[in-house]
Amino acid sequence: MAEKITPRGVDYSQWYIDIVLNAKLADYSPVKGCMVVRPRGYAIWERIQAEMDRRFKETGHENVYFPMLIPMSFLKKEAEHVEGFAPELAVVTIGGGEELEEPLVIRPTSETIIWSKYKDWVHSWRDLPLLYNQWCSVLRWEKRTRLFLRTAEFLWQEGHTAHETEAEAVEETMRMLEVYRDVAERHLCLPVIAGRKSDAEKFAGAMATYSIEAMMQDKKALQAGTSHFLGQNFGKAFDVQFQSREGKLEYAWATSWGTSTRLIGAIVMTHSDDKGLVLPPSLAPEQVVIVPIIRNDTKAAVLAYGDKILTELKAAGIRAVMDSDDSQSPGWKFAEWEMRGVPLRIEIGPRDMEAGKAMVARRDTGEKAPFEVAGLAVKARELLDAIQKNLYDRARSFREANTISVVDRGELLAFYGADRGESAGTSGATGGFAEGLWCGSGDCEGALKAETKVTIRCLPLGRQKGVSGTCCLCGSPARHRAVFARNY
Ligand SMILES: [Zn+2]
Repeated sequence: MAEKITPRGVDYSQWYIDIVLNAKLADYSPVKGCMVVRPRGYAIWERIQAEMDRRFKETGHENVYFPMLIPMSFLKKEAEHVEGFAPELAVVTIGGGEELEEPLVIRPTSETIIWSKYKDWVHSWRDLPLLYNQWCSVLRWEKRTRLFLRTAEFLWQEGHTAHETEAEAVEETMRMLEVYRDVAERHLCLPVIAGRKSDAEKFAGAMATYSIEAMMQDKKALQAGTSHFLGQNFGKAFDVQFQSREGKLEYAWATSWGTSTRLIGAIVMTHSDDKGLVLPPSLAPEQVVIVPIIRNDTKAAVLAYGDKILTELKAAGIRAVMDSDDSQSPGWKFAEWEMRGVPLRIEIGPRDMEAGKAMVARRDTGEKAPFEVAGLAVKARELLDAIQKNLYDRARSFREANTISVVDRGELLAFYGADRGESAGTSGATGGFAEGLWCGSGDCEGALKAETKVTIRCLPLGRQKGVSGTCCLCGSPARHRAVFARNY
């Protein structure tokens, strides 16, 4: 199987697609731009979902479900919102064989339909806050698509909250950004930079958008989650007014926040190698695979030995399987399970059995060593924890090694090279993250994007105090510290 994977150094984009297809995470759909998520991809998504959902509930949120069809007129109520989404809308005009009176949009996101109901549910400050989240799919008509990273329909969660005060809504926006950072770093092993988006990159209809940004192995950035402070824009557009504690009529304050199956693409691109998928143990559908070395004379005994290990691993809460298929050679099976990204492989043969041992191989480093079978479950747990940590540390070191500080345009352009990013991702990839000061002008940022495809990924949180100096792009007085990169 392994030979089917194009090496990263030859063609990074093809390498990525080879892994997604060969590790059976997803497949193409009969409808262009859509994707079929296969069982192993869906199992990863379920684990990400579970971690997110637990934290949403711990922070007081409840799940709801709204319809996928939204009256076209709803989208038009918030001017910036409809302008931002109009090019990507899929519209239903016929139902039951008849032309509809009003076209229905397949949700690209659900602010409008949710806020149309908040109008009915919010009358007094006592009705607030509303802390709702929805797990669903959304549809955005994308022209250039790539499995998990950008597809027309994708699975996601969207949180939509309504608050009494601006301060509460801002606090909620930051709380959920922190939830995303925690899940990304702890479970996906993705070191991320949390920050505010520039106005050019913010969500259509938001006052402020915050994101977490990760660096992929081709040194491009990937936005891994967003949290929006929507101000009173949707409260006003949908007339969601309430009686305040002071007895006045006020508009509700809003947030929305989302993460999607794109995170699976981020995991693949951050951790995997030329042998195939590498998965954080906490998300892997199987954490350990036992591969018995089967010979006719010892087959029954070795399988029984493997079963005993399997039972002990499972009893210790480890997701383990045994590959007792004897139609394939051990070497073939090793490569196959490596390609599928199983974090630990336990090999057992007749000699290991006699010695009371087993050979244990790590997927992340390729290290292989014999261990006593007595206490193997404890050892396996230690190794899984070590892999989880190593994947994060390795990705963080990679990001640090590919991040520079720039003071002027010349340094920035030299860092990103002469190409416009088309070849980024192949062996000639240039760039990474550049940190520099920025004046805050959209024109200044736009000119850089037009010239180099490099954009401001975010204005990192906690690093905006005491900014002084000049913009690294135009030389005007600087107002922000920014992280620049090419991105997915
Ligand atoms: Zn500038």
